Amino acid sequence: MSNARTTIFDSAPGGRALAGTGAPAWSRLRTQLHVWLHGALPQLCALCAAPAGPRLLCAACADALPRIGKVCPGCALPTPEGRACAACRERPPPWRHAVAAFAYAYPLDRLLHALKYRGATAYAPLFAGALVERLLHDAPTPPDALVALPLSPARQRDRGYNQAIEIARPLARTLGLPLVTGLRRTRDTPPLAGLPWRERQRLVNHAFAADPCVAGRAVALVDDVLTTGATLRAATRALHAAGAASVDVWVVARTLPPSS
Ligand SMILES: [Zn+2]
Ligand SMILES: [Zn+2]
Repeated sequence: MSNARTTIFDSAPGGRALAGTGAPAWSRLRTQLHVWLHGALPQLCALCAAPAGPRLLCAACADALPRIGKVCPGCALPTPEGRACAACRERPPPWRHAVAAFAYAYPLDRLLHALKYRGATAYAPLFAGALVERLLHDAPTPPDALVALPLSPARQRDRGYNQAIEIARPLARTLGLPLVTGLRRTRDTPPLAGLPWRERQRLVNHAFAADPCVAGRAVALVDDVLTTGATLRAATRALHAAGAASVDVWVVARTLPPSS
C-alpha cells in the first residue's frame, strides 16, 4: 500500500480518521494479519491436508483461493477498471459501497460451507483477515460501527452460532471498531437458495428491524456471502429506517454470474 493511499484512507472525507478514534491505522493492520496467518501452531492444510506449517492453508491452497479483481462498488461484481456497472447505475443499491474479499467459488466455498454448517469457526479469522486485506486495497471511508447480519431466532437456536458474527468479531477487534447488535430478524424466512430474485425480495422484505443505536452512525453490515443481495437490501433498508447515516456491505465472498 502506498503512503498516498494510507493518507487518503486515514483521513477519508466524511468519515472519522481511524487513528484519531483509538482504532489502529490501516497500515498497522498488517501486523495483526501476520499474527493470524503465521502465529498458529504447525498444522495440516484445511483443504488438502498437506503440512501447512503455522497456517490454516498450505501456500498452494492459499494461492488458489478465488480472489476478485476490480469490481463495481455497488454490487462487487467484476467490471473494467472497477467502474459502476450498468445495473447499479440504473438502480443503485441501498448501501454505499459493497466490499468482497473473494469470488464465491472452489475451494473457498468449501471453507465457507464448513464455517456456516459444520461449526468450523476457526476459519473466521482467516476470512476476516482477507476482508481486511481487501479493505486495505479498496480503502473505503471507514465506518463508525460494524453490524453482523442476524440469523432468525430459530436458525440461531439450531446452529448455535451465527457465522456472520464469527467473521465480524475479529474484524471489529482488528479495526478497533465496535460490533453492535443493531439489527434483528422480526420473522423467520424460508431458505432462499434457488428462488427467483423477486420472490427472494418479497420473502425478506420487512424481515428486519434495526435498533436506535445505529442512528447517525456509518455502519458496515457484515455477512458471509453476497448472492442476489435481497437479504442485505432488506437489512440495509431497516438500518436506514432506524437512522443509520450510511451502510456499507462487507462480505467474505461474492457469487458471480454463471458466465463469469
Ligand atoms: Zn493445501
Ligand atoms: Zn454493480
